[in-house]
Amino acid sequence: MSTSASFSDDSVDPSVIDRLVAANERYAAGFEDPGMDARPVLRVAVVACMDARLDLHDALGLELGDCHTIRNAGGVVTDDVIRSLTISQRALGTRSVLLIHHTTCGLESLTEDFRHELEDEVGQRPSWAVEAFRDVDQDVRQSMQRVRTSPFLLHTDDVRGFVFDVTKGLLREIDPA
Ligand SMILES: [Zn+2]
Repeated sequence: MSTSASFSDDSVDPSVIDRLVAANERYAAGFEDPGMDARPVLRVAVVACMDARLDLHDALGLELGDCHTIRNAGGVVTDDVIRSLTISQRALGTRSVLLIHHTTCGLESLTEDFRHELEDEVGQRPSWAVEAFRDVDQDVRQSMQRVRTSPFLLHTDDVRGFVFDVTKGLLREIDPA
């Protein structure tokens, strides 16, 4: 399959960040210091895809201060996710890990060719893997396994993985076996 390593769109809105900053000013105007410390109330870390259709707080009934959210393309358990989970558990007291992938993820339409195309385009191969996948259930299992076998984590008993259906808003749990 032939895909470009870059996405071009002439309709980029140069004021989008200004809009977000203005929204923040309204947010701050009504904000009251909740008086929390940095430790998540529910002692849980959520690792999820960065997908724009997944609103973690709404979808999981989470409130401010409840959890750590660690997001990247695919919700992949990379070394940097392990870094964040290690800090989350050892410095900030979380004990449970919830992994969320989702239907129609952008990584399902990519392959490792993406890296080769990048290398052709910029003359340098990225140090990271694309972590593209074909089978989302299997990818969730692999992610659970990476968390469970990490030597750096204190708590690997309560690690569960799910696929979020972006058309239904519903989680489906993946059997780790
Ligand atoms: Zn995704």
